[in-house]
Amino acid sequence: MTPLVDLKAQYREIRNEIGDAINGVLETCAFINGENVKAFERDFAEYCGVGECAAVGNGTDALYLALRALGVGQGDEVVTVAHTFIATAEAITLCGATPVFADIENGSMLLSPSAMEAAITSRTKALIPVHLYGGMCDMGAIMGTASKRGLAVVEDCAQSHGARWDGGLAGSFGDAGCFSFFPGKNLGAYGDAGAVVSRAGGVASRVKMLANHGRADKYIHEMEGVNSRLDEIQAAILRVKLRRLGEWTEKRRRVARLYMDALAGCDVGLPESDPLCEPVWHLFVIRVGNRDELRAKLRERDVDTGVHYPVPLHLQPAFKRLGIKEGALPVTERVVKEILSLPIYPELADSAVESIAETVRMYARPPQN
Ligand SMILES: *Cc1c(COP(=O)(O)O)cnc(C)c1O
Repeated sequence: MTPLVDLKAQYREIRNEIGDAINGVLETCAFINGENVKAFERDFAEYCGVGECAAVGNGTDALYLALRALGVGQGDEVVTVAHTFIATAEAITLCGATPVFADIENGSMLLSPSAMEAAITSRTKALIPVHLYGGMCDMGAIMGTASKRGLAVVEDCAQSHGARWDGGLAGSFGDAGCFSFFPGKNLGAYGDAGAVVSRAGGVASRVKMLANHGRADKYIHEMEGVNSRLDEIQAAILRVKLRRLGEWTEKRRRVARLYMDALAGCDVGLPESDPLCEPVWHLFVIRVGNRDELRAKLRERDVDTGVHYPVPLHLQPAFKRLGIKEGALPVTERVVKEILSLPIYPELADSAVESIAETVRMYARPPQN
């Protein structure tokens, strides 16, 4: 059986270090806002090439608290994509603001800078480019529009830890970079976890306060906050895993190269990215005309696949109230019918990649687009 991701293979490699890290926290009995959280925030800010980091409870809260720290609220609009995980839009509605969905580019399947610009109105307060699949949006064009129109930029980096665009790291372009450490992400905790990074004295310091009940001091609350803290056990685990992230990313890149070589020249749409982008391959997403049939063929051969994501956010039952009709986002709506995520993780064997690629070559029908 080849799973889509294999967390056990990675755990076997680091179990002793993880055990020591967890036991270290248990020995101190300091579970909240201790040394591990501080050290992880310092290390992760450095990893992202930014001034500061606020560790929070999960990636959804990272986005929500970053928007709140930027003053997004009732009556505001935030432009993002419908081709993403629902958390991106939930963060907007949690603030009382309205998500406005812009279409994606057919090649990269990421936010189209021109569609984004066209979606901006006088109510727009912020933009959320989503660096989906481990790629990166065109941050040159997006930051250009943001500064011209005076808009805040919150990068959704939940799938792009360590990715680069024109040399700059994911999360280092906008006012805030928001990360998830959900177990299956490129850097995953053993539970829920997330972080917001920003330039020094920027959004992250306000997020740090919001995430800890708006505290300035133990019983002085500067603002109405929430409880969304990273705990010491997760921070200790993340410190161990952050040290390996560079090596794991290189292994993902190797798997992606093997797939690219093995699938070149057959009836499959391969991932496309801007030459300025250095992706970290959270997912390896191909496009085919017979997605469900190919999925079934792979399943017969014990290969697990995924679809990220089958129903775009503007057509989700939860967002019916926004009144957006089918047909509103033509590229998004076409793409979701063709996408298929193949297994990718650092420990995936070359032989497994070869045999998955062989099945794909045998049964894939060309995509329409
Ligand atoms: C995982 C994910 C999130 C949310 O992160 P959680 O830690 O699960 O709350 C947000 N955006 C994207 C694109 C994601 O993949």
